[in-house]
Amino acid sequence: MQSTCTRLDRLVSEKIGINRRDVRLMLARGRLHVDGQPAVAINQPVYQFSQVLLDGEVLQDKQAVYVMLHKPVGVVSATRDDKNKTVVDLLSHPDRQQLHIVGRLDFNTSGLLLLTNDGRWSRALTQPEQKIPKWYHVIVDKPITEDYVQAFAEGMYFAYEDLTTLPAELKIINPYEAQLCLLEGRYHQVKRMFGRFDNKVLTLHRMSIGSLALDRNLQPGQSRELQREELEQLGCPFTLP
Ligand code: URA
Repeated sequence: MQSTCTRLDRLVSEKIGINRRDVRLMLARGRLHVDGQPAVAINQPVYQFSQVLLDGEVLQDKQAVYVMLHKPVGVVSATRDDKNKTVVDLLSHPDRQQLHIVGRLDFNTSGLLLLTNDGRWSRALTQPEQKIPKWYHVIVDKPITEDYVQAFAEGMYFAYEDLTTLPAELKIINPYEAQLCLLEGRYHQVKRMFGRFDNKVLTLHRMSIGSLALDRNLQPGQSRELQREELEQLGCPFTLP
């Protein structure tokens, strides 16, 4: 993943192969513009999606891309894989090779998966401190009892990571079916939590991430770009024009 912020003088000197002192001169002569405004300092931050012009010519102008995919079962959450189809293979977006995954789903898990080229956005969404609720639909092998609700709400100790999971809300739909809300995304977390009760997860489907629900019009394997309001509601619209 490319670094998301640099200094103006570094960007300009790298783009056109001049030294940073010459960038200062360009700035003084008003030849540089960042996001439509005259550049103000050689060390001003320039983000991945800032537009940078020199004498009106584009030095950098990359568009941020945010995609929602209905991940089907049997596809790897990776950008490349030697054996299996990847989620990126399913996309038709022209920039698909530049996208990375925001919070993976297992091979046998279906549902809402986000992809982007915006590292700042994906980091903000996946940081455990953000505690963004993610709802899953689960079907299991043995009956779910009320004990699960309390155990999930109390958190479970995962020895491998030496941590206790954050409180998780479990809504039992019927003995074999439930909805589960996690505030984090530990490795195989849902399967490990049901595993504590020696209960195998048969199907797992992510329904939503924060305010964003999987679009019901998307069939497994289909994707679409997120709309501006969806990005705003998710709470981290850094790079929108
Ligand atoms: N928990 C799991 O066990 N698998 C997933 O794909 C997501 C959450």
